[in-house]
Amino acid sequence: MIRFILNNKIIETHKPDGMILLDFIREEEGLTGTKEACREGECGACTVLIGRLNNEKMEYKTIASCITPIGSLKNCHIVTVEGLDTGDFTLVQKLIIDNSASQCGYCTPGIVLSMTGFCFMSEEISYDAIIDALDGNICRCTGYASIRNAGRSLIDNLKANDYEKTAKKDRLQKLIEMNIIPSYFAEIPEKLKKIGNRSNINISDETVIVAGATDLFVQKPEALENQKLYFMSERKDLEYIKEENGNILVGGAVAIEDFRKSQVIKKHYPELEDYLLLHSSTILRNTATLSGNIVNASPIGDITIILLALSARLVIENRHGNIRKIELSKFYISYKKYDLEPCEIIREIEIPICSKNEQFNFEKVSNRKILDIASVNSAALIKLSDKKNIEKLRISAGGVAPIPLLLSGLEKFIGKELSAKLIQEIAEYCMQSVTPIDDIRGSAKYKKILLKQLIIAHFNKINTVQK
Ligand SMILES: Cc1cc2nc3c(=O)[nH]c(=O)nc-3n(C[C@H](O)[C@H](O)[C@H](O)COP(=O)(O)OP(=O)(O)OC[C@H]3O[C@@H](n4cnc5c(N)ncnc54)[C@H](O)[C@@H]3O)c2cc1C
Repeated sequence: MIRFILNNKIIETHKPDGMILLDFIREEEGLTGTKEACREGECGACTVLIGRLNNEKMEYKTIASCITPIGSLKNCHIVTVEGLDTGDFTLVQKLIIDNSASQCGYCTPGIVLSMTGFCFMSEEISYDAIIDALDGNICRCTGYASIRNAGRSLIDNLKANDYEKTAKKDRLQKLIEMNIIPSYFAEIPEKLKKIGNRSNINISDETVIVAGATDLFVQKPEALENQKLYFMSERKDLEYIKEENGNILVGGAVAIEDFRKSQVIKKHYPELEDYLLLHSSTILRNTATLSGNIVNASPIGDITIILLALSARLVIENRHGNIRKIELSKFYISYKKYDLEPCEIIREIEIPICSKNEQFNFEKVSNRKILDIASVNSAALIKLSDKKNIEKLRISAGGVAPIPLLLSGLEKFIGKELSAKLIQEIAEYCMQSVTPIDDIRGSAKYKKILLKQLIIAHFNKINTVQK
């Protein structure tokens, strides 16, 4: 049995773990405020809030309900637009009305949930931050200017109410006082403690491992509905990001957005906070994991390309709890084939902390900036001596081979003095060493030229060209 709280109602259901949350909300509970549109996590019309109790405190985030299986939500508080009913319009709803930010209304519930979720999730109360929180909500008629204005008004209201200065533990109460959420939210932690349930499913050859589900439940939701599923969301022990012996250790269940915002990442790889905004959207990054991106094995997976340049290693656990370690660069065998047995999971990702003079850069070219997969992407870790000689050069490239690629043969540039001519040589070498194919994202020739340009961009960004 799956137990969770939907708005203010305790749900106990025998529906299969793989049933899609959107279908449960609309068809089983008749809550049609959550809209169905793309069913691929791409438009945000189905956005809902998910709350989990963590150390006595509720943590809420927005997710796409159209690709989320209900089995991953045991012991959660799920909030739809109906669950925001305070007896009146909430502050967010009023600001949407005041700013004429709704026309046909189909995207509006998702936008209301994303703005409400922003109040819970964001460390920073600013216009830019709320625009980022809305990056997964597409509107096709109102126009974004009025939606942005509603966001701006919300920021003004939060600032006027000293929300930023409110201690984290008091924020839920503050949101109730500001009429952003209804008062029943305050009782949810106690209710969740009472219903607490965890499944005890073990991994077997037939089990499918589900992390954020943002790949699996787009590809084959029907086939997975009645499948035995092993949810990484139940591996609370693998939700850590920590620093140890010169490495950043990331648990196998960590979501990309938590990684992006973590203090450890901000300290050692501050550039990643912005680069990772190029991966999907907030509602997807909130559940999509680094491990899922690696095992998805897409030749253009953004996280994989970044981790390859950073020399990441994988700690893999089998069903008996035994572990082995492998370099990410040795993990991929051929297209969508990789070194992982059916009952093995990625337990941890180990990222070496960059040393002095090492610089990192990531580049991605896609049809649109947000919510698009790359035509070609590339990451580079470059170390220069004080005299600007190349001491280390690691470049990865996506979209140019059947697997996410770590470019080989770059050792021949080590020791050479950096110059505009050398950068051209390196870029030309990288371009000639890949064999992309023609596909929907571009011709092979175009992708080769793109890669050359991205390599030049790496060097330009790290601003090391000798004058
Ligand atoms: C609208 C949309 C936009 C997207 N945009 C991007 C983008 O910009 N860039 C990009 O790179 N990707 C993008 N993706 C793809 C996807 O979101 C990512 O690949 C994501 O990181 C997958 O992670 P997940 O946790 O959701 O994986 P899941 O779907 O849960 O799993 C993916 C695979 O990994 C396996 N798996 C998961 N965790 C583990 C583990 N710990 N051990 C072993 N196996 C495991 C699963 O069994 C499955 O085979 C997008 C997807 C959508 C729907």
